Amino acid sequence: QTPTKSPPLPSPLRFSKFFQSNMRILVTGGAGFIGSHLVDRLMENEKNEVIVVDNYFTGSKDNLKKWIGHPRFELKRHDVTEPLLVEVDQIYHLACPASPIFYKYNPVKTIKTNVIGTLNMLGLAKRLGARILLTSTSEVYGDPLVHPQPETYWGNVNPIGVRSCYDEGKRVAETLMFDYHRQHGIEIRVARIFNTYGPRMNIDDGRVVSNFIAQALRGEPLTVQSPGTQTRSFCYVSDLVDGLIRLMEGEHTGPINLGNPGEFTMTELAETVKELINPKVEVKMVENTPDDPRQRKPDITKAKELLGWEPKVKLRDGLPLMEEDFRLRLGVDKN
Ligand code: NAD
Ligand code: UDP
Ligand code: UDP
Repeated sequence: QTPTKSPPLPSPLRFSKFFQSNMRILVTGGAGFIGSHLVDRLMENEKNEVIVVDNYFTGSKDNLKKWIGHPRFELKRHDVTEPLLVEVDQIYHLACPASPIFYKYNPVKTIKTNVIGTLNMLGLAKRLGARILLTSTSEVYGDPLVHPQPETYWGNVNPIGVRSCYDEGKRVAETLMFDYHRQHGIEIRVARIFNTYGPRMNIDDGRVVSNFIAQALRGEPLTVQSPGTQTRSFCYVSDLVDGLIRLMEGEHTGPINLGNPGEFTMTELAETVKELINPKVEVKMVENTPDDPRQRKPDITKAKELLGWEPKVKLRDGLPLMEEDFRLRLGVDKN
């Protein structure tokens, strides 16, 4: 018997309200970089019970070690492409590899995670009457022809390229969210996250900030992929998590851009990391990968107006906050 054929259960939201019990929150992908920081923040509230499901493809139990065994916390090994039966009031749906190296490693699986995974979480939300938030991405704008990118921009995405499993996967995930909202009245929230960085990023996952910091600490050349004039806007993870929670708790479905509007070329980023972390390393130009977006910067007018949110941590302040965590994990002392 499939989960959907089971007799409907009473809404846990109603239970929670009736018994004044805790808010039960599911975080898919909670063992990953952003997910584990979100869990830390949610666990600070004593009224929250948090369940994480993760298949550990790019995440790790290590990121959650301080919560394992806590009475308000539960961790389950689970792949979101399979149906899931839990009873919760809110769902933060993050499960999906985010770094190009990992999402290109098994592109078909990336699409399944985005499409079947999101469908399953929406089915769960529908059965429970739970509110669900999707962490979509600035990649839905592709190689944008409008700059900076407002939420109204429909994007410029290659449907058949090597990044499409992620970009188009997230676009379908957004479509599913809005169709469940229109067709079934599900309460949805869609965040479009721009490049985020901070402690616990996978050291060798190929993303630019983690690469440069690891390279600087190892005394290796910083690899700027050509031409180096391509831009990104980097948001520190604590700011991002604050935005996600405001979006979940607020009244707006989104999509809403969450990102830091400070825009840097990859050459500028390399020079900044060099200056702050290891002035002795060289900056080296290397070949780029296909379909690399040339520019990216969020228009966050909507987040400011509707959520009262804007990032507080500047890049020059955020990079040193990441350095300590990378030093510990790489075993590199300060001097
Ligand atoms: P991450 O790779 O650190 O975390 C993703 C987590 O999902 C990992 O713990 C991984 O094991 C888990 N996962 C992957 N596939 C799964 C599956 N099929 N079933 C269960 N778990 C699965 O990445 P992150 O940077 O923390 O990203 C989290 C979310 O935010 C993703 O949805 C990503 O698309 C989105 N996002 C991130 C960024 C960014 O800059 N970090 C930017 C835009 C969007
Ligand atoms: N689903 C799930 N957990 C639930 C309820 C549904 O994983 O508690 C999955 C279910 O297996 C299905 C998907 O969510 O594949 C969509 O469910 P929905 O009820 O919307 O669609 P249907 O099953 O009718 O196609
Ligand atoms: N990049 C780079 N050097 C690296 C890794 C990435 O110059 O070692 C560049 C890459 O070409 C892209 C930008 O940094 O222009 C951001 O890449 P990342 O993979 O971090 O995220 P994306 O925004 O492409 O998903």
